[in-house]
Amino acid sequence: MPTDHRSRLARAAETAGSTGLDAVIVTPSADLIYLAGYDPPLLPRLTCLIVRPGRDPVLVVPRLEARLATDAGIDELAEVRAWQETEDPYALVRAVVGEEASRVACSHRMWAVHLLRLQALLPEAGFVGAEGVMGRLRSIKDAQELDLLKRAARYADEALGRLLQTRLETRTERDVARALGTLLLETGNDEVTFTIVGSGPNGASPHHEPTSREILFGEGVVMDFGGRTDGYCSDVTRTVAVGQPPSELPRVHEVVLEAQEEALRTIAPDVPAQEVDRAARRVIERAGYGDLFVHRTGHGIGLEEHEWPYIVEGNDEPLRPGMCFSIEPGIYLPGEFGVRIEDIVTVTGTGAQRLNHATRELQVVR
Ligand code: ZN
Ligand code: ZN
Repeated sequence: MPTDHRSRLARAAETAGSTGLDAVIVTPSADLIYLAGYDPPLLPRLTCLIVRPGRDPVLVVPRLEARLATDAGIDELAEVRAWQETEDPYALVRAVVGEEASRVACSHRMWAVHLLRLQALLPEAGFVGAEGVMGRLRSIKDAQELDLLKRAARYADEALGRLLQTRLETRTERDVARALGTLLLETGNDEVTFTIVGSGPNGASPHHEPTSREILFGEGVVMDFGGRTDGYCSDVTRTVAVGQPPSELPRVHEVVLEAQEEALRTIAPDVPAQEVDRAARRVIERAGYGDLFVHRTGHGIGLEEHEWPYIVEGNDEPLRPGMCFSIEPGIYLPGEFGVRIEDIVTVTGTGAQRLNHATRELQVVR
């Protein structure tokens, strides 16, 4: 089934109108892929899609890329206005948006160089981020998107399963990360988006970059990785023990697993996102590790690894069926080890469904 960009554009225009925006300006990013299926190279010349309530969308594109845009079928969805090399594309945007525009939203990945020029040319307009429109639309996945996220999750699970059949002990973090990358591609992904392998004390740094450190017997290893298939991302974390784990690790692992379970049980339509974070945090606090859970419980996932909704204190946005996000509590003991367990879940009509199915029990490997 082809993606219905026309209805996505219509919903974006409608949401823009209902939130008091005169225009939403979308530069090349996941927002543009979502709305129009267009993914041009990221270059300094301005390309932007302008969505306005009650009007047809307009794509402003450098003339040398006009062909690229029409080949992607943009002319079926929007009026294409190509600008010549010596023309000012920002003036063109002003003409489309209208000088009297008072509230303009820009996609959050817009380069500052574009935003500064637009602000200078539309001095009366208030500029806001487009997350209120785009985050909201993109956070609820349709059946096709959900299928792709399930497929991406399956590939990630398979990559992990195959990695754990090989020996980790005495290999470097970098070597294991590289092997994981190869497996992510072999299982069917188009792209590897990231591979974190943190052994021993390095596991206590949640965004650790793999190093030449050798994985030793008796250590915990945190592996957090993802790939992309047909545009949609995976993101999964497991913590394993290589041989006999550090004495406190099994207990910490149990607490993290219980925190994830508690978060999963909390998920249901209309529950504020922050309640899910609170549920995971309560379990970790009760076990005495509250200070060591140093990040939010989760983030939305789709065309981007991190997108709306964020599962964090302060986000009282109600969960909706079709939302997909990670649940990834962690406990990090500086200088010793870290434990994180992460799965992608989707909100159903009554609760949550996990998209990852790799075992969550502490695995002791070699
Ligand atoms: Zn992750
Ligand atoms: Zn994540």
